[in-house]
Amino acid sequence: MTSWYRGIITALVALGLIGTGTGSVVGHAASTTPFGPERFTSNHATYVITTRSTYYRRIWESAISAWNKTGAFHFRAGSKSRAQIVLGTASGSEATTMGGDVGLTDFRAVGDYFVKVDATLNPTLFDEYDYSRSDDLHVAEHELGHTMGLAHNPSKNSVMYYRNRSVGIQKVDIKGVILRYKTPAGQSLS
Ligand SMILES: [Zn+2]
Repeated sequence: MTSWYRGIITALVALGLIGTGTGSVVGHAASTTPFGPERFTSNHATYVITTRSTYYRRIWESAISAWNKTGAFHFRAGSKSRAQIVLGTASGSEATTMGGDVGLTDFRAVGDYFVKVDATLNPTLFDEYDYSRSDDLHVAEHELGHTMGLAHNPSKNSVMYYRNRSVGIQKVDIKGVILRYKTPAGQSLS
């Protein structure tokens, strides 16, 4: 029903700015959530929330606060025109283009450094699948994981499991972000 990874694949193909198989892989570590070759230049970035819904604004704010509390990365409020990360919700018509995705993250990167990242929640599907508030929050935390450069974790005990709905940010996810920003852009962890 949900296909989390599609957004990232779409971004890779559609933008064509990131070659596949270019970076080296630093190794396999099941105890750390994997990450791709792209990252911000440092472990902080500015964001703006564009949704008109008060409910979903608070969901994004809660997810940001949860990640900021980990200390691994800092999201800071920025201006609408200059923020590096744009957090929104899909309208009913936009939701149809998202197919089975309850959340989607698209990015533009230059030289494996993120320039602009867009993360979108899909309230239409949340309603259809009867997601609770905490489910919605976990999807927002998952998409924020992508905005920092995290990839999917094959383990269900990670906020980055591809169909995660019930699990919040775990130690493995925090370790993934810390290692992502200790590891140069261009290298990934699978
Ligand atoms: Zn995902």
